[in-house]
Amino acid sequence: MRAYLALLLVVLLAPALTAQYQGSKPVPDYLKKGFDSITPEYCEIVLSYLAGEECQGRRTGTEGYQKAADYVAARFKEFGLKPVGDEKTYFQAVPFQRSRVDVKKSKLTVGGAKFVCGEDVMFNPADSAVEGSVVFVTGDADALLEDSKVLLGKILIVRGATGARSGGTTRQTRKHRPVAILTVSDAVGKPRWVSSRGGRRRRSNRAQQVRGTISLDAAKRLAASCGVKNALDMPAEGATHAKATRPKRRGSGKIVVARESAANGVPNVVGLLEGSDARLKREMVICGSHLDHLGVGTNGQVNYGADDDGSGSSALVALARALTSNGKRPRRSILFLAFCGEEMGLVGSRYYANNPIFPLKDAVCELQMDMIGRNEEFCSSNRVEETGEDNVTTTHLIGSKKISMELHELVIAMNEHIGFTFEYDEEDVYRRSDHYSFAEKGVPICFFFSGFHKDYHRPTDTVDKINFDKISNTTKLVYLTAFEAANRKKRLSK
Ligand SMILES: [Zn+2]
Repeated sequence: MRAYLALLLVVLLAPALTAQYQGSKPVPDYLKKGFDSITPEYCEIVLSYLAGEECQGRRTGTEGYQKAADYVAARFKEFGLKPVGDEKTYFQAVPFQRSRVDVKKSKLTVGGAKFVCGEDVMFNPADSAVEGSVVFVTGDADALLEDSKVLLGKILIVRGATGARSGGTTRQTRKHRPVAILTVSDAVGKPRWVSSRGGRRRRSNRAQQVRGTISLDAAKRLAASCGVKNALDMPAEGATHAKATRPKRRGSGKIVVARESAANGVPNVVGLLEGSDARLKREMVICGSHLDHLGVGTNGQVNYGADDDGSGSSALVALARALTSNGKRPRRSILFLAFCGEEMGLVGSRYYANNPIFPLKDAVCELQMDMIGRNEEFCSSNRVEETGEDNVTTTHLIGSKKISMELHELVIAMNEHIGFTFEYDEEDVYRRSDHYSFAEKGVPICFFFSGFHKDYHRPTDTVDKINFDKISNTTKLVYLTAFEAANRKKRLSK
């Protein structure tokens, strides 16, 4: 019944929703052609490739990422953007170093018992050596927080924790500084490459917390060697309670990491639409998204990243198509940038900001589209749940008032043609996407973001859950904003 009702609603609303939202004004003729070329259908075609099986979640440095980059470059070529990357290509190579656990040199020892890395245990890649008493925890480790000595300085073997998002324990548990958290798991997984973040070292001398997995067999063997056979049984009250078993046995672990550099770096994808005014065209509006996502997890599941940030990347492609097909070109230039390495710490955009192809003093603004295709389900700052149905036509403007009020007011004015309801309660994420690399250099920015949802950074962030009208309308809003910012007589002031 419910499904039928929903279907009926979609059918009734579909024609109205494919255009701008209710009550919005038509756009002037000189913008109409490009504006009308932006459709939910086109965004869906692009996103279905980027967030489909072919690209395997677009993890930076993988074949899937390169396929996504090739696809975007091919569209830029199709639209006639100028290849302004390395050696007149659409790629700017970003140096990229990655690391993973050296299984031969890494190990865990408790008393006389040895556990083999890659078979019995697997660690996250971080050079480290740890030592501490072993504690077995079953159930919810957070339930032990009142007695923080249970956790401090210990090697935790955790089974069946609730909230099992990272390593099976919550941030609360990790804060109480056990030296290691090994989550009991069916399979320990293979060693996995991660970005070394340009070789940056850890900031403090405080010992790094080791995280990883231990197979159930190995955990049982470990418990037996400590003489605590029932240590891995769940607490009688169930998984929301915790049971800690402290065998007073010390263990030590050693993790050694192997590093390598990607031979030719990993590309940002870049293309330019030259402005029509000979004098003003050296100035430019930058439009950006991040092309990368998390890729395949240790458990083999693909993180498709349809919203994060397939949505912004499909918008970037639709935007390039609109601005190149409009007929009338703006006076200033428009630079399109799809960044690599955002998920690994804004690697691609930071590289661009430090090695800009065109001087950043000529950058009028950067308009970032990252996660623009869903209806918000909760707010990150207060964790208050909202319902997606209430947020079908809402989105966030983040950081738009921080550097240039004129840019903010321009977005507001252009929205008269779209009809979004803007929210401003996500300023906490101001540092969390590529625009921030430009903001740090004083470039005015606006970060378009439709909000968090339960599929954020999970394999379930898939194309079928996307609101394509929202991607399309955000693209239209950025189209109008980019065009006017690039075309106005006087450059936007800071
Ligand atoms: Zn993102």
